[in-house]
Amino acid sequence: MSMNVLGVALNYRYDIVNRAFEMRATQLLSDIVRGQIFGKVVGEMTEREFQGRGLTQTHGLFIMRPKDTPNSPADIDKIIFPHFPDKEKFPELVALVCKVMFHGPCDANSAYHKKKKNGKCEHGFPFAFRDETDISGKRPLYRRPDDGRGFFKRFNGIMFFIDNKSVVPQSPLLLLLYVGHVNIMYSPSTSACNYGNKVQISIVKQNENKAPGEEYVHDAVQEFKEMRNMGANEAHYYIMGNSQAHI
Ligand SMILES: [Zn+2]
Repeated sequence: MSMNVLGVALNYRYDIVNRAFEMRATQLLSDIVRGQIFGKVVGEMTEREFQGRGLTQTHGLFIMRPKDTPNSPADIDKIIFPHFPDKEKFPELVALVCKVMFHGPCDANSAYHKKKKNGKCEHGFPFAFRDETDISGKRPLYRRPDDGRGFFKRFNGIMFFIDNKSVVPQSPLLLLLYVGHVNIMYSPSTSACNYGNKVQISIVKQNENKAPGEEYVHDAVQEFKEMRNMGANEAHYYIMGNSQAHI
C-alpha cells in the first residue's frame, strides 16, 4: 500500500485498515444475504482470516434455496466470470480485472508466486482454456475461452501475457461495487466448508477425541506457547470486539 495518513504508511495504521475492512465486509455480506443479489440465501457461514503479512480477508459460504441454486453450466456462466470482459463494452471492468483479479505466473521459471506444490501453483493456475463450464468433477472447471484477450505485465523483470487462463473467478457486479478483490466460486460439495473455516476446524480437531459432554478446549495461552502467532492487525481486530466466525 502506498497511501499515507499523516505521514504514516497505511499498513501501519491497522486501526483504520481494520475499520474500513469490516465496514466493507459487513456491507458485502448484507448485499448477498439481505439484498439477495444471487437469490435467497438459506444458510451462511463466514469467517475472517489474517494473512501472513497481517492483512485481513474474509471467506463466506452461502447455501441458496433450491430455486436459486445454480444447477447447470449455463446457470454458473451467468454468475461467475473467470475471463476478461469485452474491452469496448466494459472498459472499467477490464481495468479492474487487470488490477486485482488475475493470478500472477507461478510456473517453474517464475519466482513471483512462492506457494507451489510439486513445482506447480497450489491453486491450479494457469487453468486450461475451455469452451464450456464442466461441473461433473469434484471442482468446477469454468469456461475460459481462448479469445486472445489479456494484457502484458512484467514480473521480476520478465514480461508475461496474462490471459483467460489466469483470471480469478469473479462477479462483475461485486467487482464494480467493491472495486477490490472478490473471488466467487461454485461449490458442488461440502469441501468448501473445510476451506472456508480452516481455523475453526483446527480448534474442532483439538477436541475431536473428547467424550460427549466433556469440556470443550480452546486454550489461547496454550496456542500462544505452541507458537500460534498473532499480528497487530489481528489483535486490534479482536480488541474492537469483532468475532472471527459467523454461522
Ligand atoms: Zn499460484
